[in-house]
Amino acid sequence: MINDIQEIILTPEQIRNQIKELGLKISSDYQSDPPLLVGILKGALPFLADLMRSITIPVIYDLMAVSSYGASTKSTGTVRIIKDLDIVIENRNVIIVEDIVDTGLTLQYLVENLRSRKPKTIKVCTLLDKPSRRVAPIQPDYNGFEIPDVFVVGFGLDYAEKYRNLPYIGVLKEKIYQNT
Ligand code: 5GP
Repeated sequence: MINDIQEIILTPEQIRNQIKELGLKISSDYQSDPPLLVGILKGALPFLADLMRSITIPVIYDLMAVSSYGASTKSTGTVRIIKDLDIVIENRNVIIVEDIVDTGLTLQYLVENLRSRKPKTIKVCTLLDKPSRRVAPIQPDYNGFEIPDVFVVGFGLDYAEKYRNLPYIGVLKEKIYQNT
């Protein structure tokens, strides 16, 4: 797998430290009214697992799955819920936990969808942010790292379901996805 990676841009240590910071910030912001973390499958799973263990106040979590790009590297803007929440979010403090915000179209849909269920508050926490590619007016409330316009894999992020188990975040060699 390492042969398919052009460059490692975030090491396991950098990721670990930054997630710890995010966890402490969330713990301090929600001290009086603990949140419900909504992890977006599959990409956010490692991030969610580490983030919740960095949070020092009681939290609960649930999972949602939405349609992704499939074996392509571009967003279509069409979002479909594949697995919905089990927990009722009405009157709760919701934090959506995402792997990466790119165009913002996925999150725009998710925020609108969850807002219609009347949570008390709704915020977005993402491990990675690619602001240069934004189409929808989405601004993450908590962000691990801003990255340039490159296609990255690892730490939950895939290309055609591969590379999710890499412990770092790396730029995928262009030749791997050139023909999609
Ligand atoms: P958006 O709707 O913001 O364009 O895209 C969000 C989703 O696209 C992310 O949850 C992720 O699944 C996928 N995505 C966006 N950029 C990248 C990237 O650089 N690498 C990978 N592996 N997935 C990405």
